Amino acid sequence: MDIQAIVEQVWAELAERRGSGAVADYIPALARVDPRRFGIAVATPDGGFHCAGDADEPFSIQSISKVFVLALALDRHGARLFDKVGREPSGDPFNSIVQLERDQGIPRNPFINAGAIVTTDHLIDDRPVDEAVAELLALLRKMARDPGITIDGEVAMSESTAGDRNRSLAYFMASFGVLTNAVPDILDGYFQQCALALSCRNLAEAGLFLAFDGTDPVTGERVVSSARCRRINALMLTCGHYDNSGEFAYDVGFCGKSGVGGGILAVVPGRASIAVWSPGLGAGGTSLLGAAALKAIAERTGWSIFG
Ligand code: GLN
Repeated sequence: MDIQAIVEQVWAELAERRGSGAVADYIPALARVDPRRFGIAVATPDGGFHCAGDADEPFSIQSISKVFVLALALDRHGARLFDKVGREPSGDPFNSIVQLERDQGIPRNPFINAGAIVTTDHLIDDRPVDEAVAELLALLRKMARDPGITIDGEVAMSESTAGDRNRSLAYFMASFGVLTNAVPDILDGYFQQCALALSCRNLAEAGLFLAFDGTDPVTGERVVSSARCRRINALMLTCGHYDNSGEFAYDVGFCGKSGVGGGILAVVPGRASIAVWSPGLGAGGTSLLGAAALKAIAERTGWSIFG
């Protein structure tokens, strides 16, 4: 199968729709991104890449960071983490607060904002926030084999300025005793992780271990146990796109995680890791063109996880 040709065809067929969807504008720094950017990168276990378009331009990965934070928080705390965050799809928007009151401040899953605030609290644990953020950055740099990956300080600042909803979620959970660290510290870590800037190539490579049982197929190094890897992938499939997760599983059939920066990381167990980026979002907060590109790649490669 000529994956490079498939990636180039899919990019070319969708390129005329660049600019469709709505760029997230509730974070001012994201509203300034060129809506016509569109990149695709497929990373394969032999260390190869198949790229098209703006695959080397760093973008704000936003909620995609929640996957890597979950992996590190589980590493630190094991399954006890799930005493404080659930494993069920929310059926609500990513920044919804309504369910928290019904469930005594326990968020439905680690991939909505409230859930990621809980996993960030666990990642920080009993150390300074910057140490936890440095661990996350080191993981991404190592997995993507790119020491140049950074956090976009302007986006992080913008997140904080526009962060009233996330503050509300965090203080609401704190009122139920769900959080351990001080809310401003947790949000500092949360805003920084959302502002991580990676290219499609970086992201596809960083996510490759999730497609190969928790092991980096290029170096053979284990990142998470295979049981944990399966569970992270299960959560990506069921909760990776908020109340759009069912639609994404139905349409695309890959484990995936989207972010409001317009990126999507898709994991195809045993095959590849794919990152797409197009800033225009659909109503559920997932990249319109990105999801369309993944759907087309799934159809042409026959790689759906459902056979
Ligand atoms: N930084 C964003 C927020 O907290 C992340 C949301 C997302 O990517 N869905 O609202």
